[in-house]
Parts: sequence; C-alpha cells; structure tokens
Amino acid sequence: MTRRALTVLAASLLAPRAARRLTGASQAAQATLLSAPLTLTGDWGKSPENTARLVVLRMREVCLSGIALLSDRQPQLLNVDGHTTGFPHIELGQKPADAAFIAVDIGTRAWAQLAYQFGHELGHVFCNTWQPGSVAQTPSQWLEESLVEAFSLRGLGLLADSWIRDPPIAGSSAYGAAIREYRDNQVEKYRVADGGPVADMGSWFHAKRHALDALGGVNPIAAPAIVAFLAEYERDPRCVEDLGAVNRWPQRSAVPIETYLQLWRASCAEIKAPGRMPDKVSGILGLG
Ligand SMILES: [Zn+2]
Repeated sequence: MTRRALTVLAASLLAPRAARRLTGASQAAQATLLSAPLTLTGDWGKSPENTARLVVLRMREVCLSGIALLSDRQPQLLNVDGHTTGFPHIELGQKPADAAFIAVDIGTRAWAQLAYQFGHELGHVFCNTWQPGSVAQTPSQWLEESLVEAFSLRGLGLLADSWIRDPPIAGSSAYGAAIREYRDNQVEKYRVADGGPVADMGSWFHAKRHALDALGGVNPIAAPAIVAFLAEYERDPRCVEDLGAVNRWPQRSAVPIETYLQLWRASCAEIKAPGRMPDKVSGILGLG
C-alpha cells in the first residue's frame, strides 16, 4: 500500500465528528475580500509597481477593516491590472474564475488617484460584481455605481488619516494631507454638481429618476445621492456591510429600484448583514 493510499484509508476511518471538524476548518480557510492574496499585473508606466502595491494594499485595509464581510461570493484572489489608457473597470471573464480583476489607469505616481479608482472598483467587487456574467444593467445600475463611489470616498478619508499616522512609503506622511485635499475636492465637486446642494432629496429623485434609470456608469447626475450615501457610511459604518448582499439575485440591477431594494433587504437577511443601508437609501430617495 502506498503512503497516499494509507493516508486516504486513515481519512476514511475518521469519526464523523472529526470529519465535520475538518470540513469546518477548510471553510474557515476561505479567503475574504480583505485577506485574499493581491497581485499586480499590466503596465504601470513610470509609477513604481512596488509602491502601487503598497497603496492598493493600504486602501483595501482601511476600506474593509472593522467591516463584516458576509458575502458568500468573495474572490480568492484580487488582481489589479495597470493600464495607461482607458477607464478603470472590472475585467470579467478572466482566469482563474475565482479571482477578481480590477483595471486602473493612473497618472505617474498619482497615488491618491490610484486609491480612488481602486476603491471604486473594490466597491463593485464587494457588491458581488466580479464573477463571469455579472454584467451591470439599467435601470438600477446607477445605484450600485453611486454606492461604490461613496464607498471609495469614505475609504479615501480613512486612507488620509492612516497615511499621516503611518505612511506606507517611508518619510511621506505629508502626502496624507494631499490625499485629504484630493478627497475633499471630489466631495465638494459632487456637493455642488447639477445645481446642488440638494435640500429635498425625495423631490430631487422624483425629478431625476428618468435620467438616473438610463445611466450606465458613475455620473455627476447622481452626485446628490453619492454625497448622501457617503454621509450614511460615515455616520454608521455597519451600513457598509450591506454592500456584501448586493446583486445576490439573478436579475441583479435589471429591475426598478423599488424591486431592487426589496431584493437587497431579503439578501441582507440571508447572509445576516445588518440590512440598514437598503432602508436608508429608500428613506433618502423618498421611496418610503
Ligand atoms: Zn463603477
């Protein structure tokens, strides 16, 4: 009998209780969005790839630390692909199938821009948009885009604080203030976009719904919603945990927002997420 056959025999003789414990251990070994190995590929131009890696790792850490990651669809590898042209996006259909592929396109050593782009795409992965076939569709695509844009802006604020305290690049703590400024400028742009700030979000949504339903990407038209969602995340970080329940239904975003919010609530209950953000979104948009 070979050594391997002996091992198999020994395994088959394990008491059911011990076997159950082994199953439990192998489940616990599954990676989360925070613990999955992170690799970099592609063309980083004149930006040192090693530094890009440090920035991306720190951004992931601040975005997800203290956040319960409850999705049953978390990638086992996260790859960040550098590009010198095009827009940041999720690359669908890559191999291996249990890996999420994020494409970014940054200026030379533009680390705040890298963190911002990566944070947005990480938000999509958090919302279960990374597996083959997870294509976003109207009319509720704008909602996911706005939720993940706010997720990235929250992360940028945390990154600024973290960078000042403990810079990932030695001697660069002053860059934390630059990240803070970059983030604040972006939030301010959204705050005043499209005639904002908006006082009555319900009326705003009623007036803009038709335009929002047609949107295929993050768009300044949705700026008031992005600002409002960011405020909810910052008031109650547990709202962020509900992103893990997004899109866990076959129709994904191809349903009207009222249906989307119902499906999101049910999905939160299934994975034991807090279920606070669907109610917040509903309240903000005057949907009851
Ligand atoms: Zn997006």
